[in-house]
Amino acid sequence: MKKKPPSSTSLIAHAYRPPAGFGSVQPAVHKASTVLFANTAALRSRTWKSKAGYTYGLHGTPTTFTLEERIATLEGGLDTLLVPSGLAAITLVDAALLRAGDELLIPDNAYGPGKELARNELAGWGIAHRFYDAMDPASLAAAITPKTRLVWLEAPGSVTMEFPDLPALVAAVRRHRGVLVAIDNTWGAGLAFGPFDVGADVSIQALTKYASGGADVLMGSVTTRDESLHQRLKATHMRMGWGVGANDAEAVLRGLPSIALRYEAQDRAGRALAAWWQARPEVVAVLHPALPGSPGHAHWAELCTQSAGLFSVVFDTRFSARQVDAFLDALKLFKLGYSWAGPVSLAVPYDLAVYRSRPPWPGTLVRFSMGLEAVGDLIEDCAQALAALA
Ligand SMILES: *Cc1c(COP(=O)(O)O)cnc(C)c1O
Repeated sequence: MKKKPPSSTSLIAHAYRPPAGFGSVQPAVHKASTVLFANTAALRSRTWKSKAGYTYGLHGTPTTFTLEERIATLEGGLDTLLVPSGLAAITLVDAALLRAGDELLIPDNAYGPGKELARNELAGWGIAHRFYDAMDPASLAAAITPKTRLVWLEAPGSVTMEFPDLPALVAAVRRHRGVLVAIDNTWGAGLAFGPFDVGADVSIQALTKYASGGADVLMGSVTTRDESLHQRLKATHMRMGWGVGANDAEAVLRGLPSIALRYEAQDRAGRALAAWWQARPEVVAVLHPALPGSPGHAHWAELCTQSAGLFSVVFDTRFSARQVDAFLDALKLFKLGYSWAGPVSLAVPYDLAVYRSRPPWPGTLVRFSMGLEAVGDLIEDCAQALAALA
């Protein structure tokens, strides 16, 4: 007799329930678009506005709620929203807090794609922007108009690593009513300084970097300390549909327990390699906020003892961009690639003339991000690759 296959119903509406009370070190991965309600009353009384219950996978699962709460703690905030990338975190803040006719202020040395968002989509939606010099609080004060609604801060500046006087910048904004301050806290990662301690209203992070630490997942967070501000951001988050997948949240939850250890290790390695570069005649500047002589070092020292494992060097103009490329291609342990805070050390060349409206140095800049390799090996790698410069 042929075997009768089990009906699909018996596989789906199965009676077995595993015993409750299973304990594991890592939080469970709850994957869902559909969330099931116990009865109609529960469905009718659903709300996506709080963590009191579940409504739809896009609006949260136990996995994403858990990560949100842990990031809020890391940042020293109350509420966190998760979005699919660090750039999406910037986009969410801009989209939620700005309307046509409003003005937005961005540091000249901010993360590039956030500036491009302002130049393109935001401009198209009737939102004006201006760039200010983050190293000059007077430049920020002068840029604020009655239409200004949002000011971005970033510490240190992207690629050129200048550390601004954050309290002075916030103070310049606080002289005006109705202007919110958002900070890109990816570099600080919630460890180097408290974004709300310096006076920010909103802190975003690319969890892609330190929170994950794996170079294998993209995610962003938007954290606040004020419930009504959180609800404004959450409403836009909901309407835009910017939820994250459970597997990605799980990847970040796996990286998070070791964030402080990795931050410290990469900081130590970064300072050792930066100090080695400082003694090299091939470079004219080593841009690392923890190194005396680096732009904004005093501001860093007032606020921080730690630093991300990230810095840049500027090669002497006697070396062409092609020669610097030859150096980069000769690196063996350092790989070429964007992002940072992963296990593999990375190097990226930047052309400052393209990158900054007022390039502070001529010459080719190379940004190094420290992985978790032995720092002696990384120094040796740079030393051997310098032969290719000649
Ligand atoms: C990487 C980065 C981002 C963007 O993060 P993605 O997840 O790559 O979109 C934003 N701000 C800063 C400072 C970053 O370093």
